[in-house]
Amino acid sequence: MSTFTELQLIEPILRAVKEEGYTTPTPIQAQSIPHLLKGRDLLGCAQTGTGKTAAFVLPILQQLSIRKKVTARGAPRALILAPTRELTAQIGQSIRTYGKYLRLNSAVIFGGVSQFPQVKTLRQGIDILVATPGRLFDLLNQGHVRLNEVEMFVLDEADRMLDMGFIHDIKRIIAKLPTKRQSLFLSATLDSRVVALARTLVHDPVHVTIEPEKPTVDRIQQSVFFVDKGNKDALLTKILRNPAVTRAIVFTLMKHVANNVAVMLNHNGIRADAIHGNKSQGARSAALDAFRRGKIRVLVATDIAARGIDIDDISHVINYELPNEPESYVHRIGRTARAGSSGVAISFCSSSERDYLQAIERLIRKRLEVVRDPNFHSDTAMNATGAAARPPPRGGRGGRRNGSQSFGGGPRRPGFSESSGRSHSFSHQRRSGSRSSSSSGSGSGPRHGSNRGRRG
Ligand code: AMP
Repeated sequence: MSTFTELQLIEPILRAVKEEGYTTPTPIQAQSIPHLLKGRDLLGCAQTGTGKTAAFVLPILQQLSIRKKVTARGAPRALILAPTRELTAQIGQSIRTYGKYLRLNSAVIFGGVSQFPQVKTLRQGIDILVATPGRLFDLLNQGHVRLNEVEMFVLDEADRMLDMGFIHDIKRIIAKLPTKRQSLFLSATLDSRVVALARTLVHDPVHVTIEPEKPTVDRIQQSVFFVDKGNKDALLTKILRNPAVTRAIVFTLMKHVANNVAVMLNHNGIRADAIHGNKSQGARSAALDAFRRGKIRVLVATDIAARGIDIDDISHVINYELPNEPESYVHRIGRTARAGSSGVAISFCSSSERDYLQAIERLIRKRLEVVRDPNFHSDTAMNATGAAARPPPRGGRGGRRNGSQSFGGGPRRPGFSESSGRSHSFSHQRRSGSRSSSSSGSGSGPRHGSNRGRRG
């Protein structure tokens, strides 16, 4: 499933999603939304960061708006229970964002604050209520909320609810729901107590399991070309001529280098534009817009100018100049591999940049795969002296890596060893084609998450 349109979402929702900059449904969205729109129950194993909120919010918005009816005071048509104030607030925000072109009212209620403003909102009549179990239970007891109109019910982060001791409140709340309803049950883990609770809630559910995301950096195929400064333009041109590079950001350290590179690329027939601090806001917006629309395939940017750029589907990040702060490397390459997709990051390293490369490899705790293009490879750059030699990184996965050659520079070596020619040497096996792709998966068994509590 490659587009939101294929998920049969209505136009006002598609418009809002598009405005958020989402181009492709995440795996949990693609696997759940079609079933949810048909009224099926859901048993979803997924954690924050997978796009799970939109996976349940979009179908709720769509169904309530299609079956529009007048809401009674304090009687929501959809109820979403979440364990924390932060999570309820985030879900409430998502409802407002995705539902901005629909005429549906929503409210968020949680404990620890005065209940009066919440009660006031409930009196106005709301379609969707997002609540923590404790406060909802209080307001139910006081008669400010009735659950007899609930058509759709979501229990989000169920495992966390159980950890937090909400089981009794949840059970009492469930007892007040109409038996005819659609139920969605989401949890980061599915251990026996979670499954036992799910059984009381969902009927013949669709099962969707999303494996936890690998850290972004691990999903990116990273490599380095050792190249002399004077050859960088030609190497970049060669790389960008590969049709596999569908949308690339080329990073430079300096503004004037960004300009020069963009001019050089255009001269070589590759449409590119540069963004950096010396360009007016208007010129930057125009360049970004052209890039976003695919009118130019390559954007050349400095680190600062690239900050805050939110563009999906960037196939390649190319570090024409390595950053002098290793953290910038992680920020740069994180431009690719958004929303679960994989990406390619290629770095150029000349002899004067060896220290930067070393700092990066220490930070990410892995060695970048070296690609030796016969026309461009520089032993001088690779064997640069001083602190820039390549000792194995500390910790992490040591010298073992996955990765396949990202770009056809030269012939593949069946296994390669790389030595700086000094007392330490470092070798590893190339493991061609072992690149892992997406975080999705369905139908696999229970899983125990480790980074729960992370908020996307
Ligand atoms: P969640 O797992 O619901 O907390 O969502 C994690 C983040 O992913 C949120 O910041 C969403 O705005 C974002 N997101 C959700 N769906 C998509 C999508 N289809 N494409 C890109 N980003 C998304």
